[in-house]
Amino acid sequence: MPDITKLANGFRIFKATTFPKQKEIISHFLEQGQKPTTLVISCCDIKLSPAEIFATNPGELYVINNIGGMIPKYGTAGIHGILSALEYAVTTLEVQNIVVLGHSKCDGIKMMMSDKFTSTNGLSESMKTWLSVASEARDAVKKQMADKSEDEQQASCEHESVIISLRNLMTYPYISKRLDQNKLNIFGWHFDTETGEMTGFNADTAFFDPIS
Ligand SMILES: [Zn+2]
Repeated sequence: MPDITKLANGFRIFKATTFPKQKEIISHFLEQGQKPTTLVISCCDIKLSPAEIFATNPGELYVINNIGGMIPKYGTAGIHGILSALEYAVTTLEVQNIVVLGHSKCDGIKMMMSDKFTSTNGLSESMKTWLSVASEARDAVKKQMADKSEDEQQASCEHESVIISLRNLMTYPYISKRLDQNKLNIFGWHFDTETGEMTGFNADTAFFDPIS
């Protein structure tokens, strides 16, 4: 069956079963305006949507998806779509939490770790430019874990990339201001898509601890 037919059939099931149950919640947000409490920055290929992972209702999360689930430094040129979504979530919707959500077996991180990232005829310029957002993670892992397997390097790079995005978030003046005022919390989590385990970055220990 062609995929688009499968999607259309899936939509019919959603409309008949899930939509009627959620209609009231959606109507509420249409009348009152959306008021999500948490912004999740996650990867396009995470396999499960953040709404499924966190068992949320419509309107509870504001989600930015991109390759690798990364956030560039403040002032980075040419990525207005992501930066405007971040700004809107924080300054207009006034979310109280930001979760940078990395995940295992990430295709974006895999591309960044591959030789194609440094090869002149490997990845496209736009892909290289985007992945460069977290290339510090690649450099650190390649240097410090040179004797480890590709899988171990990849897993480590996924976690490092989350830490870099947390650091980059703090370069935004409107974010650092809200952090100082205790109006905002930021978290770096990593979801293992094989085991279903979630871990969170602990700034005190610099390790990722299980989220229970
Ligand atoms: Zn990914």
